[in-house]
Amino acid sequence: MSNRKNDIKNAIEKIFYSRKNRITHPRGKFDNGNRFYPAYKNEQLICCSCIREPSRGFPFSFLHHCRTKKHVAALINKLGPYSKVIMIELAIIRRHKTMKGN
Ligand SMILES: [Zn+2]
Repeated sequence: MSNRKNDIKNAIEKIFYSRKNRITHPRGKFDNGNRFYPAYKNEQLICCSCIREPSRGFPFSFLHHCRTKKHVAALINKLGPYSKVIMIELAIIRRHKTMKGN
């Protein structure tokens, strides 16, 4: 496997795990009804268009989706493993691990 493919695979695993465990979070914002919307830039993808719009009863439909492996894989494949946003998220994960080890 090429380095780039390996880096993509590693980034998917790390970011999926960290989002699942609430170490990092999808980029986006909450409206005044506490509904989460993924950031238009660097988070919203084609896969998100099949997700039901958040409602007051189900405010986190996008938030749950953006933590799935499917979304994380699509995100990293689109932005690339060396893009700024992905590098930042990976740096937060590394820092979290270092802090935990102390
Ligand atoms: Zn998505």
